Amino acid sequence: MRTGIPGWLETGVSNWKRRQTVTVDIGGVKVGSEHPVVVQSMTNTDTADVEKSVTQVEALAAAGSEIVRVTVNNHEAARAVPEIVARLRNRGVTTPIVGDFHYNGHLLLRDHPECARTLGKYRINPGNVGTKRRDENFQQIVAIAVENDKPVRIGVNWGSLDQDLLTDMMDRNAAQPKPLDAPAVLRAAIIESAVRSAELAERTGLRPDQILLSAKVSEVSELVAVYQQLAARLDASGLLYPLHLGLTEAGMGAKGIVASSVALAPLLIAGIGDTIRISLTPEPGGDRTLEVQVGQQILQSLGIRSFEPQVTSCPGCGRTTSTFFQEMAQDIQAYLRQQLPVWRERYPGVEDLSVAVMGCVVNGPGESRHSDIGISLPGTFEEPKAPVYVDGEHYTTLKGEGLVEEFKGILEAYVERRYGVGGAGRAEASTGVPLGAGEPAVTVPGGGG
Ligand code: SF4
Repeated sequence: MRTGIPGWLETGVSNWKRRQTVTVDIGGVKVGSEHPVVVQSMTNTDTADVEKSVTQVEALAAAGSEIVRVTVNNHEAARAVPEIVARLRNRGVTTPIVGDFHYNGHLLLRDHPECARTLGKYRINPGNVGTKRRDENFQQIVAIAVENDKPVRIGVNWGSLDQDLLTDMMDRNAAQPKPLDAPAVLRAAIIESAVRSAELAERTGLRPDQILLSAKVSEVSELVAVYQQLAARLDASGLLYPLHLGLTEAGMGAKGIVASSVALAPLLIAGIGDTIRISLTPEPGGDRTLEVQVGQQILQSLGIRSFEPQVTSCPGCGRTTSTFFQEMAQDIQAYLRQQLPVWRERYPGVEDLSVAVMGCVVNGPGESRHSDIGISLPGTFEEPKAPVYVDGEHYTTLKGEGLVEEFKGILEAYVERRYGVGGAGRAEASTGVPLGAGEPAVTVPGGGG
């Protein structure tokens, strides 16, 4: 689905639409309400280690990250940036690189003009640009952005909020006849910091279409509230800055994935958010690209963008005592993963494909009918045959040992017919939307039976 409109909302449940924004061009990637929500990521290598950083950016880009941020925390890192970008371009990786600056960004960008030129965007945290000379340092970075025609993300984070601003707002709130509670004042201060900084950036010469805002916190309900209020405040003031969404410090594993997903979903459904980053803590030695896969899966689960064919498989239960069904689901997923790079070139729109691999007759035929193509395997004590459904209709019934290979053959023929030249499912190739390159994922439709 490439309309950017979740299918379940297209049916009239609600009039879903994106919050209107200007378009910001980040090194060729367009961010804003006229463009698909962009998935981005950040490296965790020492930026000064050029080869390690290049390797990780390549992996993130290959996983589908459309923008990659690197920390620029010292002179060595700033010196490394042009070399990182040059090596990436030599290897055919066009992903824009964003520099993350704290404390000394004004100095590093001044001392390393080539770094300033090669970055696609600068991220500034207004709480981390100094205390006495905060505005001066901030404006120095903005002036360099103006000079180099670069966009800037003003990224406020509650862990590093401008303490003077917060104290001032807390004091003024305490003097009110009916003071707000502390979390409400904190939210207001985060929003105030972002808006004031954007206004200062504009007064310094940055165009509105060079500014993105983010207001990150690490609590799900607070994140939703902050972004809802920020969006309302911007809209009321006619400020059309695109918003970067992310739950900061989301955590590890299932906790981080779930927290990020539930935090971003209501905002995205409300049309808030133009680019997302999932801030997962990787397991030691873990795969950094997981954050890209999760970001893509959030967008695809909401029907906002398609990145890869989806395999729907049931969780299995006492009716599937053999492992054949799990093995087949895994096999089909691996097959899709293997085919995807070629299919994406040959069959535009194939990212929308849905495949069901179900464990028994209870939900198998029904779920298979809801997918483009599906197979319902025999459960324990069921007759050893597997009906296959194509576009909701019973297509054939497979039996015997070659069942998996036969199903792949039917799948391949279906993809050719539907997404090949002249196929009804072929996507509009003219959108120019960069598609992600993640792996097919298994979705689990509820419990047994
Ligand atoms: S009852 Fe449901 S969960 Fe159990 S095998 Fe059948 S379809 Fe899968």
